[in-house]
Order: sequence, then C-alpha cells, then structure tokens
Amino acid sequence: MPESFRTLLDKDFADRRLIIVTNREPYIHKKTATGVKVDTPAGGVTAALDDVLKTTGGVWIAWGNGTADREVVNKQSEVEVPPDSPSYSLKRVWLTPSDVDNYYHGYSNRLLWPLSHIAMERVFFRKRFWHAYRRVNRLFADSVLEVIKGESDDLLWVHDYHLCLVPRLIREQLPDITISHFWHIPWPDWSVFRVCPQARELVEGLLGSDLLGFQIPLFVRNFMDCVRELLPEAEIDHHRQRIIYNGQTTELRAYPISIDFDKFDKEASKKTINRTIASLKRQYNIEGQFIGIGVDRLEYTKALIKRLQAIELFFEKYKRFLGRFTFVQIVTATRMKEPYLSYKKAVEDIVEKINKKYRRDHWKPVLYIEKKLSFHELVSFYRMADVGIVSSIYDGMNLVAKEFIASQVDCKGVLILSELAGAAEELDGAVLINPYDVEGFAEQIYRALRMPPDERRQRMESLRALIREKDIYRWITDVLSDMVDISGFKNKKCTYLKDVQAVLNEKVGDRKVFMFLDFDGTLTPIVETPEKAVLSEQMRDTLKRLSEVVPVAVISGRGLDDLRERVAVDGIYYAGNHGAEIYDGENVIISRETELERQRMKELIKRLKDSLGDIDGVILEDKGITTSVHFRRVKVKELSRLVRIFKDIIRDYSETFRVTTGKKVFEIRPLSAWNKGEALQWILQRYGDGRIPIYLGDDVTDEDAFKVVQGRGISIGVGLNCRVDYYLKDYKEVREFLEEVIRWLRR
Ligand code: UDP
Repeated sequence: MPESFRTLLDKDFADRRLIIVTNREPYIHKKTATGVKVDTPAGGVTAALDDVLKTTGGVWIAWGNGTADREVVNKQSEVEVPPDSPSYSLKRVWLTPSDVDNYYHGYSNRLLWPLSHIAMERVFFRKRFWHAYRRVNRLFADSVLEVIKGESDDLLWVHDYHLCLVPRLIREQLPDITISHFWHIPWPDWSVFRVCPQARELVEGLLGSDLLGFQIPLFVRNFMDCVRELLPEAEIDHHRQRIIYNGQTTELRAYPISIDFDKFDKEASKKTINRTIASLKRQYNIEGQFIGIGVDRLEYTKALIKRLQAIELFFEKYKRFLGRFTFVQIVTATRMKEPYLSYKKAVEDIVEKINKKYRRDHWKPVLYIEKKLSFHELVSFYRMADVGIVSSIYDGMNLVAKEFIASQVDCKGVLILSELAGAAEELDGAVLINPYDVEGFAEQIYRALRMPPDERRQRMESLRALIREKDIYRWITDVLSDMVDISGFKNKKCTYLKDVQAVLNEKVGDRKVFMFLDFDGTLTPIVETPEKAVLSEQMRDTLKRLSEVVPVAVISGRGLDDLRERVAVDGIYYAGNHGAEIYDGENVIISRETELERQRMKELIKRLKDSLGDIDGVILEDKGITTSVHFRRVKVKELSRLVRIFKDIIRDYSETFRVTTGKKVFEIRPLSAWNKGEALQWILQRYGDGRIPIYLGDDVTDEDAFKVVQGRGISIGVGLNCRVDYYLKDYKEVREFLEEVIRWLRR
C-alpha cells in the first residue's frame, strides 16, 4: 500500500467510518467436508477495497451467498473479517432464491448489463425483475440504515449497477450523510438508455448521491444527457459536471479504475517465472512459437467469437504463421444461466472448428484453457505472450489490458485493444482495433506480430509508466479524497452567505475593502466551451458601479488579453494566466523571475520545435509566459517517441518549468509564475493600502487565492466549495451580492 494512500486513510479516517456496499461479498463462508472454509473471491478491486477497510475499519455490506454464511454471523448478520485478524465488519444481506433469480440474474444481468453494453438484442425484461430489484435495493438500504443511525460523519460508498436505488433510499432518511456511487460498467447514450422501462427511477436513485463516479468522461457526458432528457427540472452544470435535482447536488467525475501494478510487476519479475514459463510451454506444447493471449470471463461483451473469427482470418491470410503462432485463450465460466450457457457453447464450437481446420501434428492454433490458474501461472502467461488481445464490444474499463501491461516486464509484448473498451481512452500505445471489423482486426494481429522490437519496447514502456502511476490505490485515493472534501462542505465548515450587510458589518466594519473576482463561473454562467462565455450587460454595469466605490481586480485562468476583452470595464485590475500576468491599467506586469525565464522559454520552444518537428500532428502553442504542446493529432505509434523526446528535453529545465498533463496536451509553466494567490497578494501590497480582501471564486484554481485571504479577509465560494468562509449558490447570486456591497459601501 503506497505511503500517500496510507496517509489519507490515517488522516481522514481516524474519526469517521467508511461503509462500503457491494453486491458481492469480500469473504464467503462455505461448508466443506472438513468444516467451514473461507473463500476470498478473486478480483483486484475487491482486494484493494478490502485493504482499505482493513486499515480504516468500518463496515462492508453485501449479499451473503456462501453456504455457511448464515452460520457465522451474529444477530445483526455481521461477522468480523478477515477471519485470521479481524479489523472490520462484514454485514450480510439475505436474498431468497427468487430474489437472486429476479434481481440478480433478471434485472441486473438481463436488462441493465446488456443495455449498458449496447447489446440490445440481449436485453430482456419482466415486471417481476423490477419488483425484486426494488425490494432488494430496499433490503440493502435498510441494512445501511441499521449501521448508520442519525447524524454521522460516516462516508458511504455504494458500487455498481445492482444498487442504483440505494443512494436515494438512504438520502430520504439521512439528508446529511455523504454518499458516493461508482458505476463500474459503461453508461450508454440516451438513444440506448431510453429503452429501459425504469430509466427515470434509476437515474433518480443515483442522484441521491453526492458524488457519482464513472470510468471515463464519455460515460459522464452520456449520463448528463440522459438526465437532461429524463428530468427536465434538473439543473445541469456541464462545465463543473454537477447536477442539482430535488435539492440534492451531485458531483459527477470520471475515475478510471486500475490494478495493483506492483503486484503484477513483482510477480512477473520473480526469478521462478522463467521456470514456470518453460514448464507451461512444455506442458501445452507451445515452445518456439509466437504466442497470443486472451483472458476473459465467458462473457458476450468480450466478443470472443469476433476475436476467434479474426484469428481464423489471420491464419487464412497469413499461412506462414500456421505452426508458428498459438493463441492461448484462458476463460472462466460466468453467470451460468442463459444466454451465457449458449454463448459458452458457441465459443467452444468455433475453437473446435478452427483447430480442426488448421491443426498439424502436435500444434493447434487455439489453446483453450478453462481452468482456475494460480496467480503465478496467470502472470506467466501474460509475460510469455507476444500479443495480448482485448476485443470487447463495449467495456467499462477492462482490467485484463492493464494486467497484461503490468506483467510485461521485458516490454516485448504488444497490446491489441478494442477502441470500444474504456481502457482505450487512456492506453496510448496499444494497437487499437474495431472488433466489428474482422478484416482490420486480423490485419492488426499481423502488424503486432511483425512490429519491430524497438517500437514494441517504446509502446510498452509508456503504457507501463502510465499504469504504474495510475494504479488501483490512486483510484481509491482520488475517490475517497473527493468524498472527504464533499463531506467537509456538507458538515458546514462554511456557511451560506445570506445576510450580506450583517457579514460586512461584522467582518469589515470601519475598514476598507478590495474586491477580487474570478471570471468563469463567478461573473458568468459556466458554458459548454470557454469561447462561449459572455459577461452580461447587467453584470458589466454592476462591475462598473462597483469599481467607482471600491478597487476591483478580476483574476482568471484565461489569457490576459482574452480576459480584458471579455470583461471590458475600465479602471479595474486584471490578472490573466492564473495570475502570472497582471494589468494595472497601464502596464503588464509579470514577476521578475518569470521575466528572466522568458528567454529560457524561447530556447525551450526552439529545442522542442527542432526535435518534435518531424512528428506529424504536434502543435506548439506559444502563449508568451506559458506554452502548450498539443498532441491530440499525433499517431499512436509516434506517441511514445514524442513523450520520450519531450521528457528528455524538459528534464534539462526541471528547475525552471513545471509540466502538467491535460487531455493530450502538456502545459509548460515557469515555476516562478504567480498563481492566483500570489497575484492577489502582489496587487494588494502594491495598491491595497491596508484594505481587506474579499475574494469570490468557484474552482480548484481559486484555492491559492482563498488561502491568501484566509484569516485576513473574506473568501466566498460560488457553488460547492469547502475551503471558504461563505458560499453563494451561483453567479446570479454573485450579482446580488455585489449590489449589496455597493449599497453597503454607500451607506
Ligand atoms: N480473470 C481471471 N481468469 C479468467 C478470466 C478473468 O483471473 O479466466 C480475471 C482477470 O485477471 C481480471 C478479471 O478477471 O482481473 C476481469 O476483469 P475485466 O475488467 O477485464 O473484466 P470483467 O470481468 O470485470 O468484465
């Protein structure tokens, strides 16, 4: 467990409980001939969440489906786990066989699962599915309510599509509790989701949460679109990814789930692995071969049939690989009901057909392994493979792709990845395929097998660096930190700014003030793209009148010129580029150090131009003090070269510039450039004349300014914000507030 993760748990969970709610349980008690045994279901996410609860203590609520589960619990249906050193409670929810059929196999797996994966022809619905789904969600909610009584600092984290209704059911009883829900599978677009007969109820259920997590930004957008169609009365803030419905604010975020990188990396680096690989190769007769690997539940969304068709076509087109390439398909049977039984049969039939068609002597093109492998064996297969194939028709993330990468310690394998899997969004360096295009798919298998070692290494190195940094602990840390922040806000560490006159009387009294205002989201409504933000004439008029009675500065992340054009009020101060450039009415001022570093920035830009010039699609945007390197249009196969060259060059400047990575863009900014807080400080020192700062902002980038104001002025957050003295609901209230300030100053 990484240090930063442990610090979070120690710091923020010392005096509050974490309650996790999932369908599946982390420990299953089973009856055996020799007594009760405990199983821990495989799965990285469960293991990582178990790690968290072992550290924080708390409660895990889940369906008790083990044969001995009832025998070991107390009256509250709880058992302390892990069995050998108990550190938290597992509270079990009991389902009848009919619940399991209708809620789990029915509503969850025959309606929500295929619908979310856009497998429309498999969507099947019965009324009794829905009745059971509602009943079981109520059972889970009741269980939560038995654990949390009345007001509490507890954090509740609900998981997945089985439990959509739980957040709203809890919210109705406990208005102040902090609830987060994570949706592990894709959220489809509206044209698909509208098919669901209970679309509205499900969305309303989820909107009982304070924080709603999805795998990738696309699913967040899809969800917002569905809310717009289903709940016209909901307020949707696209920019901040926030929905207000029924008085409840729900923050939406993408948190791409990941794996325990170190665990795979360490296992794959063990000395014994070479021996295991050699022995597996002997056992399965695949010595001296190119090897491909697929590891999947026998699940139609993984598109195993399309994958096998592509492999068949590959052999048909490239006969010289007959006898030289073996595809190892490892599977586990899953949800053993229809349509899974038929799917399993169809997969096995096509494997047999291909093997019959192409087998020679001791060689078979497809090795089909349906057996629970040990972790060591699984990692050995990942590591020995020259190509790993993931072909999902739609997938929340796909962890197999990441496990393959983490196991490729010698960087010789190529990942072939469906562009329709959530993982494709992150994994620059994979060879992308469209699983529906069998021809293209077969070609990419050929291309991957022929890829030169250098290119393989470059791609795999950059993929490994990515997963190493963004592992499962980072995922949990991101979600939990956001939950802690939200809970801080909810626990009213800041208050709603209602009586402006009273607050000004109390906090300012006879002293004088200096108004500092953020732009987007504070003076203007947040719009879909930054270019569309317009300051209303009313707000401009308010600003003009305000600036007649008090000094005013507008501080923004926008470029200085852009900001001045958009506000267009004379006689006020402007700070652009997050505070790096200030206009005081006559001159543009930047910090002395930053001024000195301009020359160095020019030199850096020249070096970047010279070295990246031959890579198609790179755009260098010289913004004076800062520079952006856009690489959205760069071909995947060039990406690792671009990243390597960029990092090599920027390393020489690490004492001068800071690089932050955005969506396919590197932002380079001088370390010495002022942030919003420093800009505020500078303006106040130079022109403040002992005045008290009042700062209004709405975003994380305003936090530096809030900090400076803390203790010496008034910080006001617009919308949700927990590190401020007061908050206002939106930009409309900002204008009312400014009018009140004008009135107060003229009193
Ligand atoms: N898995 C396994 N053996 C198998 C098939 C899958 O251990 O035969 C594991 C695999 O290692 C991975 C998980 O099951 O950890 C599958 O996760 P993924 O996100 O790829 O797909 P999901 O099954 O969650 O849809």
